[in-house]
Amino acid sequence: MKINLTEILLETGSSLEFNKDLYLKDFVWQNENVSFKGPLAISGSIQNLGHVLSLKGSVRSTLILTCRLCLEDYEYELKLDFEARLKKDSNQDDPDYFTYTGYEIDLTDIMMEYIILELPSTRQCSDKCRGLCSSCGINKNIHTCDCINHIGEDTEPELDERFKALKDYLSAQNKEV
Ligand SMILES: [Zn+2]
Ligand SMILES: [Zn+2]
Repeated sequence: MKINLTEILLETGSSLEFNKDLYLKDFVWQNENVSFKGPLAISGSIQNLGHVLSLKGSVRSTLILTCRLCLEDYEYELKLDFEARLKKDSNQDDPDYFTYTGYEIDLTDIMMEYIILELPSTRQCSDKCRGLCSSCGINKNIHTCDCINHIGEDTEPELDERFKALKDYLSAQNKEV
């Protein structure tokens, strides 16, 4: 989505406001599909500060993410505020600035950067997600299975190696007695 800057570039201090729906393409992030349920509702303003432009705004959208535990898709409400500086045709790779060329800026790339930063690092459909059974692969949120052995294994705390050696030793002693 491009915004025409012609008017504000003429005069330092001038600004423009925008309020738009931005349609972004689905993408792959950390080997998982990320898709948009609808458009990104984006609103904000751009001000000409002389040598740079100041871009401020907020974004709302609903993303479809994949739960890492049960592998089902779930909805994630994205809501973020952003504040960025823009420089014209900067050929230096300055991480503090986005660039624009000519008389317009393309918000798509800028928004993609903010969205990626905002994605939750542990994508999980709910705190209570029970995931897939490690034995039969069934989705434990929907079905139950009889793989009881594995539930026991999962909940047993890991033992310190030395303690485990002691436990093995004691059980060996018991057998001999
Ligand atoms: Zn899940
Ligand atoms: Zn199972």
